[in-house]
Amino acid sequence: MAQPIRYYSTNLKAPGVSFKEALLKGLAPDGGLYMPERMPIIDETEFKTFSGKAYHEIALAMLKKFLGDEIPDDILLNMTRDAYNFEVPIEPVCERKYLMRLDQGPTASFKDFAARMMGRLMQYFLHRENRNMLILTATSGDTGSAIANAFYELKNIRVVILFPEKEVTERQRKQMTTLGKNIQIIGIEGKFDNCQALVKQAFSDSGLQLLNLSSANSINIGRLIPQSFYYVYAASRLLKDKQEKIIFSVPSGNFGNLMGGLTALHMGLPVKKFIVSTNENDEVPVYFRTGKYKTIVPSKNCISSAMNVGHPSNMARVIALYGGIMNEQGVIVKEPDAERIKRDLYGISISDKETKATIQSVYERHGILIEPHGAVGWAGMQEYFKDVPADASPSQPAVCLETAHPAKFPAEIKDLLDIDPELPKSLQGLDEKEESWDTLKPDYSLLKKYLLEKYA
Ligand SMILES: *Cc1c(COP(=O)(O)O)cnc(C)c1O
Repeated sequence: MAQPIRYYSTNLKAPGVSFKEALLKGLAPDGGLYMPERMPIIDETEFKTFSGKAYHEIALAMLKKFLGDEIPDDILLNMTRDAYNFEVPIEPVCERKYLMRLDQGPTASFKDFAARMMGRLMQYFLHRENRNMLILTATSGDTGSAIANAFYELKNIRVVILFPEKEVTERQRKQMTTLGKNIQIIGIEGKFDNCQALVKQAFSDSGLQLLNLSSANSINIGRLIPQSFYYVYAASRLLKDKQEKIIFSVPSGNFGNLMGGLTALHMGLPVKKFIVSTNENDEVPVYFRTGKYKTIVPSKNCISSAMNVGHPSNMARVIALYGGIMNEQGVIVKEPDAERIKRDLYGISISDKETKATIQSVYERHGILIEPHGAVGWAGMQEYFKDVPADASPSQPAVCLETAHPAKFPAEIKDLLDIDPELPKSLQGLDEKEESWDTLKPDYSLLKKYLLEKYA
């Protein structure tokens, strides 16, 4: 067996750690993000075997490369089977252009892929060491439900989620408040910023150290690695021989999804190009074009709301992967290899107007229903084909990721297409379930008292 992979901090000022430590720590002590010190390789022979493997078996093979023998094979197999107990449809749209629907998990969002695997990995290590962890996180809507569902009924982990009581939709709230058991939901009488500030204060409060807090947010390496699996899966299903390479269009906000794809690429997956499709928050496409990175503050409000990000939290990882360094303020202190970035990535920003027109045209032309995030991806792919017509060829395989289920955007879809998208099974029956949540004023001393009384 090769030496197990260690994980370094993108700020380069903290010691390297094992996968387990990176997973349970989340953020490195120097404020950087953990990255694998080397990328494991998928060679041609192994890649060929993937075409006959189920999704969870590919997940197992991929995880083993990053974990070495930290977790026995049979246990890891059970974990991947349990995490990925839903379909991953790759829907043909026209010629060899596809939509990969990452919306069949319990919260109908692609975040299920990462959160469910991370939860199971954390549970394993905590249980082995007879430790408990309290996940504390703030949500403006969808992330909370993905986390709540991913950790539901797991052992050794309890979850507290703060949400702004008046700022989430009824459906978003019900996705969190109808679970119960190890999932505690707290409505804050305030805004999302209040929730975030409360969480931040809790993390810096040494008086809460005994609770073993963790944030489970999107910068955790345990969420990143599982986001590489579906790229490998798609390529294994769509590439016919070793001369072929695939194109992906990735609707991007915090760039966790893209980092999953880049991880697969750097492991040797035959990818021709990643189209990085953003909404009007175009700081990264502008950076690719001009070499100048400027965050957008405050971020712009677009209908693809999960991508309203003016400074992607995973940008430091993208820069690190190409040999550069970006600090927490978003300043590039060492330039990455711009030529290699250009070779692998194509950035494109899509306006809300184009997003809406794309939802309409994909439905009218192909009879296929997509939602605003997937539409940004599809529109980005069309723009790329205009710019690089050779890649629009019918023989070139290309996949756009659809990151949420259209039924999560009923008003938008009704408005554009005059249809009511059917709720996926996972979201049905929420209205009949009983809700339960507590309410707190946005006052840190109240939250601290609550946490200590309930969890210490
Ligand atoms: C979170 C999210 C995105 C953005 O993914 P990143 O990894 O942050 O780039 C896109 N679409 C949906 C539906 C999401 O929930």
